[in-house]
Amino acid sequence: MNEAILGLVRLQELDKALDALRQHAAKIAPRRAAVAARRAALVAQHESSKKTLTDAQVQKKNLEMDIDTKDQVIRKSSGELNSVKSNDAYKALLTQIDAAKKEKSAIEDQVLVLMETIDALQKSAKAADAEHQTQRAALDAEDAALNAEEAEDQSKADAKQGERDSYAAGLPRAARERYESIQRGRPGFLAVVPLQDMICGGCRTRLTASLLNEVMKGKDLVACESCSRLLYIPPKPADAAVHQ
Ligand SMILES: [Zn+2]
Repeated sequence: MNEAILGLVRLQELDKALDALRQHAAKIAPRRAAVAARRAALVAQHESSKKTLTDAQVQKKNLEMDIDTKDQVIRKSSGELNSVKSNDAYKALLTQIDAAKKEKSAIEDQVLVLMETIDALQKSAKAADAEHQTQRAALDAEDAALNAEEAEDQSKADAKQGERDSYAAGLPRAARERYESIQRGRPGFLAVVPLQDMICGGCRTRLTASLLNEVMKGKDLVACESCSRLLYIPPKPADAAVHQ
């Protein structure tokens, strides 16, 4: 067995572990975006229920202004009753006063209904405020947990990168450069593959007898003629036990 190839197999394992850590770290951003989306929905819902209350309050103010207007009409027309000359004009004023009173009464009914609505909305707003605070605190906690997880992922990846780089530095330079020129930083791409019954473990091509012979001799690094991956003969379980 070629010594360098075993080093490359180990290097590949370190690269795989590093990839796994980076993949885990990459999943944090979409999870954080999901929390942000839930936060936006929560704020929107809260704003909308607050708006329902203020809308009702504004509507009530407007109706109260309408009542004032009707009061003015009633006062003005009542004041004119004593100074009118004709019976018809008197009757017309009475009709006007009566109509204004009826309209005022109808508006007052609307105000009463609205007051009940506002009362109910104010009561539920208190509960909604408390619920909103609780949910916001839960989202804050989720964000904090994601930040902690991200920091942990980052430090694990940094440590693994350090381990990988110092291991790589200890390998024969030519072998390492050959591995890196095949692997080319592609996540999950295997540059070193085992031979399985004369078949390349990368592209499943059957090896020629002479190439197989080269691999068996273990003098040089041997690449698959079809996919250019470096080939090695996986140690048998018995061998592995001896090496442990
Ligand atoms: Zn191949």
